[in-house]
Amino acid sequence: MRRFFIAGNWKMNLSAAEARVLAAEVAGKVAVENAAAKLDVAVCPAFVHLESVVRALQGAPVAVGGQDVYFEPNGAFTGEVSVAMLKDVGCRYVIIGHSERRHVIGETDELINRKVKAALAGGLEVILCIGELLEEWEKGQTEAVCQRHLRQGLAGVAAEQTAKVTIAYEPVWAIGTGKTATPEQAQEAQAYSRSVLAEMFGGRAAQAVRIQYGGSVKPANAEELLRQPDVDGALVGGASLKREDFWGIIQAGLRASAAGK
Ligand code: PEP
Repeated sequence: MRRFFIAGNWKMNLSAAEARVLAAEVAGKVAVENAAAKLDVAVCPAFVHLESVVRALQGAPVAVGGQDVYFEPNGAFTGEVSVAMLKDVGCRYVIIGHSERRHVIGETDELINRKVKAALAGGLEVILCIGELLEEWEKGQTEAVCQRHLRQGLAGVAAEQTAKVTIAYEPVWAIGTGKTATPEQAQEAQAYSRSVLAEMFGGRAAQAVRIQYGGSVKPANAEELLRQPDVDGALVGGASLKREDFWGIIQAGLRASAAGK
């Protein structure tokens, strides 16, 4: 079955020293409790902290991801970072299409698709974020938005490549707001998203893709979310900045996986 995948998105937070300390503390907990035997854990610091966090995590059972990437391999793209640069610094994962990239920075599905294809071609594993805005949710457009984000974001991706793709379903109205989708709402959207993946890549590939839930995940709500059949992990923002909260979510994952999920 699918292994849980808990990833922390640190966004534009923490000093270099704070990032190093937090990474080492999380890794210490994961190692002592042998959590990596049961689930995957990653942290995604700001670009400028990647190198020191990778160094702090050397040999530890916690992987590192970038929060974004550009699709061109090199050249005159001021401020951007390439796939090869993320690989070179020690990243395994990259988050692409986060709602803040879509709705604050203005990224389109077409740009996101180019990034996804470049990341996969260059050997990074992709966490592709999808999910609807509050007004789309209120109008009952959740499925239409998830379908569009998946079909356009993964256009041109081969079925074999989906082994390196994680989907993060993140209803935008739940990100950083303290409002969380109910476990039933998350399950419904994520089961639907898996059915879209099955149409695109076949049932076997779709069954293997991990779909995380993201949006105000906390230790108190994580286990119930993770017990849903199509919730295979969490992409955690705010709570991943607090060692005890992030660890609490990882522990919820361990309990849900021990319960046979
Ligand atoms: C996120 O940034 O992907 C996220 C889900 O943030 P938060 O957990 O703070 O809602």
